[in-house]
Amino acid sequence: MEEVVLLETLKEYFGYESFRPLQKKIIENIFKKKDNLVIMPTGGGKSICYQLPAILLPEITLVISPLIALMKDQVDGLNANGVPAAFLNSSQEEADKQAIFQKIDKKEIKLLYVAPESLQFVDRFLSDGKVSLIAIDEAHCISSWGHDFRPAYTQLGYLKNRFPSTPVLALTATADKATRNDICRQLNIPDAKKHVASFDRKNLSLDVKQGIKRFEQISQFLKNRQKESGIIYCLSRKTTEELAGKLKAKGFKAEAYHAGLAHLERSQIQDDFINDEKQIICATIAFGMGIDKSNIRWVIHYNMPKNLEGYYQEIGRAGRDGLPSDTLLFHSYADVIQLQKFASNAKNEDVQLAKLDRMKQYSEALSCRRKILLSYFGEFLEEDCGNCDICRNPPEFFEGTVIAQKALSCIFRLKGTEPIGTVIDVLRGSQNEVIRRNGYEQLSTYNIGNDISWRHWQQYLIQLINLGYVEIAFDRNNHLRLTEQAKKVLFEKETVYLADVQEEQLKTPEEKAA
Ligand code: ADP
Ligand code: ZN
Repeated sequence: MEEVVLLETLKEYFGYESFRPLQKKIIENIFKKKDNLVIMPTGGGKSICYQLPAILLPEITLVISPLIALMKDQVDGLNANGVPAAFLNSSQEEADKQAIFQKIDKKEIKLLYVAPESLQFVDRFLSDGKVSLIAIDEAHCISSWGHDFRPAYTQLGYLKNRFPSTPVLALTATADKATRNDICRQLNIPDAKKHVASFDRKNLSLDVKQGIKRFEQISQFLKNRQKESGIIYCLSRKTTEELAGKLKAKGFKAEAYHAGLAHLERSQIQDDFINDEKQIICATIAFGMGIDKSNIRWVIHYNMPKNLEGYYQEIGRAGRDGLPSDTLLFHSYADVIQLQKFASNAKNEDVQLAKLDRMKQYSEALSCRRKILLSYFGEFLEEDCGNCDICRNPPEFFEGTVIAQKALSCIFRLKGTEPIGTVIDVLRGSQNEVIRRNGYEQLSTYNIGNDISWRHWQQYLIQLINLGYVEIAFDRNNHLRLTEQAKKVLFEKETVYLADVQEEQLKTPEEKAA
């Protein structure tokens, strides 16, 4: 497809002058009939990637979307822009469905939004060659590695078999590397080109504070924010209500929001917030999905989120207009213990616990938090961000290149097949079953770090993970393995600075709580 045609279509139907980074490349790939996986933060411009090709492609485009509530908005928006679109989901009457089928027969529809549960209807009358493109929105829902697994998504893998010559476009705002690979595997698009947009939201400040006297800290935070809109995320419904009550008593227009409220009440609160009638929403994570309010100036996490994807998505609701906005996370060991309990009852316990661990490491970080957050999404920031509490108030550092070299070469010798505990045991020359069984005493890195305590090593390794030299393979029993960046330390003598570890930080949650 010629570039001028793409640009003309973009202008005519969407009113934009140019494509955002990646949009053009993705669209061109679709016209080459290739499969694509798009990872872009919320607000990055994913919809254009399939809506624009849909207008130009000869046959219909299927859009699989999990959110029935949002489907109607999207379809109304498209129709208003002159793009014939419709949706199919379980909330519709049979007659409405029949009317849509007839329109499809007459080729009067370019985009058809379908809930995964309703795919069987489509299956009845569409065949390969009669579908130009299959877009799968919120594709991370297919993966139990992701944070929003939906069973109905798991059947989507059959689409590629059913429509082998139709390109598939999978889109998501939240996918770590393990989830990305899992999405492609499950959708049967192993060769999909992966397009990863930057997740960096420079206008969001990042702050973490100890979760003590939280309400006093929040009152302090709100002192110069009398008019600004914000969200406070809490773990339990009860907390949202208590907090909203206390804020109301202080004269704030605050409201609690959670899944226990009636549907009508919830949409009223949502509207009031969007129209600035309510200033503060104290909410569980039920709040926010699909809310398009550009001037949210701050987000507070009263409790720790259970993983970094959720955290990133929730703070990402602030500052969509690009103006400076603040985020504050309260770090509490009681929360960690509570979340550990939730995670250990989950089906994929290992994954959830490992993700919680990353969340905890982020909260306890000693180096630029944005670097840590972005490295979780596979991005490497060259410079510290200057807009997080650590950058503004850095801890004491020492030159830890030798320590880093020892740790990295040990992981290298272990070929990325052991978790953090075994790596430390090898470094410290421990004697145990795993070491003996694998003959790790023979490794050149065995016992090269016995001058450093077990817990210090643990802290240093966490720092190396946070610095982006090491990653945790969630899909392989949490084994540690080296990243590309590690080569700089091992082979190019890159200097590594590590933070001095305070005794306080070496205590376990239980010890600290005591
Ligand atoms: P996502 O689905 O990734 O969350 P959207 O597709 O809803 O993002 O797009 C986010 C916003 O950016 C929308 O208001 C959209 O109209 C706008 N947008 C998308 N592409 C462009 C572009 N090329 N130029 C200007 N604005 C764009
Ligand atoms: Zn920083």
